[in-house]
Amino acid sequence: MRAIVVGSGAGGATAARELQSRGFEVVVLEAGPPFKPFTRRISWAEPLRRFGLLGGESTFKHLFPPMDIQRSSQELVLVRGLSTGGSTVLACGNLVRADRGLKEIGLDLTPEYDELEGELKPTTIPQENWRPVTNEMFLSARDMGLNPQPTPKVVDTSKCNNCGLCELGCVRGARWDSRKFLTEAIRKGAVLKSRSPVERVITENGRVSGVITHDNKKYNADVVVLAAGGIGSPQILKNSGLKAEDHLWVDIVLTLGGVLSGARQLEEPPMAWYTQHEDYILSPYPDILSHYFHKPWRKVPIQDRVGLMVKLADTEEGAVYADGKVDKPLTAYDQERLDLAINQAQEVMEGAGVSGPFVRGVPNGGHLGGTVPLKKEDVPNIRPSWLPEGLWVADLSLSPRSQGLPTILLTAALALRVSRKILETME
Ligand SMILES: Cc1cc2nc3c(=O)[nH]c(=O)nc-3n(C[C@H](O)[C@H](O)[C@H](O)COP(=O)(O)OP(=O)(O)OC[C@H]3O[C@@H](n4cnc5c(N)ncnc54)[C@H](O)[C@@H]3O)c2cc1C
Repeated sequence: MRAIVVGSGAGGATAARELQSRGFEVVVLEAGPPFKPFTRRISWAEPLRRFGLLGGESTFKHLFPPMDIQRSSQELVLVRGLSTGGSTVLACGNLVRADRGLKEIGLDLTPEYDELEGELKPTTIPQENWRPVTNEMFLSARDMGLNPQPTPKVVDTSKCNNCGLCELGCVRGARWDSRKFLTEAIRKGAVLKSRSPVERVITENGRVSGVITHDNKKYNADVVVLAAGGIGSPQILKNSGLKAEDHLWVDIVLTLGGVLSGARQLEEPPMAWYTQHEDYILSPYPDILSHYFHKPWRKVPIQDRVGLMVKLADTEEGAVYADGKVDKPLTAYDQERLDLAINQAQEVMEGAGVSGPFVRGVPNGGHLGGTVPLKKEDVPNIRPSWLPEGLWVADLSLSPRSQGLPTILLTAALALRVSRKILETME
């Protein structure tokens, strides 16, 4: 049996490893090149930044090609990884269970969560490694009754040098990313073809029989697993004459920037702790995107900048087109929720001795999901019933609701459930 897995991020790498180790011949088609972390010499950018010579956030893409950035509306920027490892190579290493909207459709991922956590063994960053300002904000949040908790992470603290630049790739290999699963799949015989963006799936007599890549190469397979992410998978579906839903969610991140002389917040892993609310979290985050590319943040040098992030479960409303462009607004309701959470963030910061001027960063989203959402009736087969036979989706597109929480574990758990269903149906 031959399976093509499209994409090598949280979903694709998990599916590839599972299918290959259970007897499939797996070919992974990945749009991006092999991942290379950003050079650590970031200090050169500081003077350019102050004079506004770095330009806007689109410059980031040129400086660091694996990070794909696009504006989905005037006020919102979307971020994703386009390389081996997908968005996991840009992650902060947070690994938490997220299940918003799953109970409503009758989906319980507890067995997969138990299994993946048992393997990856998330731990927290020892409190003595936190910067003093992070500790002070933790205490302030605790005094406000917000119940902050150290964030579970897949970071080997013995290898981490607290560079604070997790989102630019981990040069020390301290932080887990999905290339670990991918490497295991390859060791067991899977074939990885990077720089191979899939254009569309091939359907014959109502059954999917393979895919065609942008360079017009045809790959045949018994099973095609789309794991190109919340933008990539619907793009391929639409290019194939199939549908995807205008239901994109992105978990909007908005960082409030304050000032504390000598805080040096970048000298620790980001998001060391978090507070969880109904539809958002607060977490310490220096926000390098806003620091380098957002005009209102220019005046404060990096060593004095303090950030506290709001990560909001946004309204599931946004469209992906066949050319990969995205239309995704910040709704009035999202704005209202962000305002409320940002006020709370400011209170936490003030309680920790961080002062103003408080400035908001760039609203951005990097948890891309919801474009092939599971419905109640899809859960037994873990597959939208309208997909042609032989075609599966195994990425965050399947999650019907935004989370406002880290989403790697959710994606990997979904991909594991999907892979096992594929194996079951092929028996
Ligand atoms: C900056 C950043 C930090 C994050 N930090 C965390 C964190 O700390 N913890 C956490 O849990 N989550 C984090 N996330 C979110 C998490 O990384 C994603 O939700 C998760 O990786 C989604 O998995 P996926 O498989 O759906 O997509 P991805 O991991 O993005 O993988 C999609 C893959 O498909 C490939 N692809 C796209 N189009 C095509 C095509 N046409 N043909 C072939 N391949 C294609 C892409 O190159 C990519 O490799 C972060 C995200 C970002 C952007």
